Amino acid sequence: MIFNSNTMQLHFKDALAYLTFNRLSELDNIKHAFSTRLGGVSTGEFTSLNMSFGRGDSDENVTENYKRLCSALDIRYEDLVASAQDHNTTVRRVGQAQKGIGIYKPKDMLSVDGLITNEKGVALVTYFADCTPVLLVDTKRNAIGACHAGWRGTVSRIAQITVQSMTKEFGTDPQDIIAAVGPAIGKCCYEVDTPVAQRFIDLQLHESVVQDKGSGKYMVDLLLTNKQILMQAGVPESSIICSDVCTKCNCDLIWSHRATGGKRGGMCAILEIV
Ligand SMILES: [Zn+2]
Repeated sequence: MIFNSNTMQLHFKDALAYLTFNRLSELDNIKHAFSTRLGGVSTGEFTSLNMSFGRGDSDENVTENYKRLCSALDIRYEDLVASAQDHNTTVRRVGQAQKGIGIYKPKDMLSVDGLITNEKGVALVTYFADCTPVLLVDTKRNAIGACHAGWRGTVSRIAQITVQSMTKEFGTDPQDIIAAVGPAIGKCCYEVDTPVAQRFIDLQLHESVVQDKGSGKYMVDLLLTNKQILMQAGVPESSIICSDVCTKCNCDLIWSHRATGGKRGGMCAILEIV
């Protein structure tokens, strides 16, 4: 495994590996991380750090994986609260009362692709395996947001909707947000057919978002699309960092839906105010 990145750092705590964004690590009011495939207890197609419940892995294994990741990150397992993702655009405000939901308490809501909070010690958990994580930190009002932007969520502007939710709930000025986009499947590997490409073309963003390969095939840049949408939401371009780590190119390290043909576990992103 060769890991090369100008934007992210790979860390090991014993056998468990996780990633952080260099820019977010500079902020002392938050903790954040992205899990990898390495250092968990799951077996078979979930080997070994699978953070996704409900894909066929045992709940006991996924729970142990969370406990190991939390231990490596020095985050309390009890503080986790998870999304309930289904490629829509509902963003939920969570706090102390929601801790445990989707992790050690049952889900109480369907269709939650974004989470926001302004409370300390509430660790937002979202899931990925090629789809785009978007993490948002309001550096003035001490509020955070995390959302799951697959292609459907991306073209439905969930990144912008999450920013707007932070403004509505916490008074966030988008100018104060530092945003991290990815790691996700890169333009190098994300080939789509005409109907999906057209949805991106219809957004009328930067022309390099969609590259026509001919024969009805297109390469789409999910990360740049989310960056452009965040800029339209008012986040300064200089405050948006896109990961240069492609999930499919790095499928020995990170879960990639396409690289595994869907036989896979999942990565999680964790973001918490401390
Ligand atoms: Zn790639």
